[in-house]
Amino acid sequence: MKGQGMDKLIAAAVDLNRDYLVSFLQELIKADTQVINHGITGGNEANGQHLIISKLREMGCEPDIFEPDNRLLSRYGQGNDGHNYTNRPNVVGVFRGSGGGRSLILNGHVDTMPFGDRSAWSVDPLGAVIQDGKLYGLGSSDMKAGLAANLLAIELLQKLRIKLKGDLIFESVVDEEGGGNGTLACIDRGYRADAAIISEPTGLKIFPAHMGFIFYAITVYGKSLHSSAKWLGVNAIEKAMILIQALQDLEHNWLMTKRHALLPGPTINVGEIKGGTAGSTVPDSCQFKLCLHYLPTDADEEGGGSLVEKDVLETIHRRCQGDPWLSANPPTIVKYQEGSPFEISVNHPLVQAAASAYSRVTKEPARIEGMLAGCDARHFANIAGMPVIVFGPADAAQAHSVDEFVTIASYLKYIEVLCHMIIDWCELD
Ligand SMILES: [Zn+2]
Repeated sequence: MKGQGMDKLIAAAVDLNRDYLVSFLQELIKADTQVINHGITGGNEANGQHLIISKLREMGCEPDIFEPDNRLLSRYGQGNDGHNYTNRPNVVGVFRGSGGGRSLILNGHVDTMPFGDRSAWSVDPLGAVIQDGKLYGLGSSDMKAGLAANLLAIELLQKLRIKLKGDLIFESVVDEEGGGNGTLACIDRGYRADAAIISEPTGLKIFPAHMGFIFYAITVYGKSLHSSAKWLGVNAIEKAMILIQALQDLEHNWLMTKRHALLPGPTINVGEIKGGTAGSTVPDSCQFKLCLHYLPTDADEEGGGSLVEKDVLETIHRRCQGDPWLSANPPTIVKYQEGSPFEISVNHPLVQAAASAYSRVTKEPARIEGMLAGCDARHFANIAGMPVIVFGPADAAQAHSVDEFVTIASYLKYIEVLCHMIIDWCELD
């Protein structure tokens, strides 16, 4: 069956199964899967993975269940070493096609950030309450709606007895919020396909690119003394201000010279500063931390941030040369986290397939944009060398926010779009 018959069949199946599709998502939200201490000391993902595992088995698929292994992951140099993965398994289900079609990975993370101050929420963060067409709860937007949709779209196609040529690989990963080691572990285990979709909240927009980012902690030194004889000491806060100004000049220069069709200009954000002990003491140290965001067009040959890093280090070094104290007492610069950017062409068949599935269901042109923050897409693009897009239900503005929600309409719409996307990509048998 093709064309309008298929359109109607899938739309009717989503409609008919509406309550079931929503209640599965509710169960997933009720399962507490918060990471602990940014995923470093642990996480509760197993609570959600149990539901996923039972569903996969119900669908006749024996899942691959495995915890990320730090020894295997450290060699990728992604800077998230040493997280505790006890009882935090990834779950992967492989649905073999009949052969000859393109394969597709559907990836989503099951972990959420902590809900924070409970009293700030007007609903129970783990209650999965429905009000006015919105399903509220921690992770509803980021990204249990996308994760549930991935699994239930496959199940819906099964129920419709739709057979595919290409393989479908469903991945429910842990510790995305902690830096992406769950997806990295799937890649390390050998899971590959002709393309991947990560159903992070994009508001049903298609993201074929995201920015890269680097965090630095920069410590500037001075010479401490009573403030009444300030001229005999060296004020580390004032020296830090000189370097911060130099970095702002670099950001200005970037913004004036770098352009991207889908993404905003690169930025440098100084987001934390600490120095000194008292107003009457000339401070002998000042540390500031920054996060910079850079464009995929500024990535090095491996897709990483070495060229951007060179720019930053040279800027600091040059400014230090112009100051006798800083040149004799250079700051300590520590890079403590980074994530590479990614980009595929808007004309790539994967982007085009997603766009046509979207238009087919909504009768509207697809919206193709860039993603500001990073996500696991970089691992698929830069480590597995696979085409990937970020494309999911729910609004990114809801992610990590109080009273997080997903509209039921966008969740169901995404399942419908995804069914078409899968059929188009993997091909009917
Ligand atoms: Zn997410």
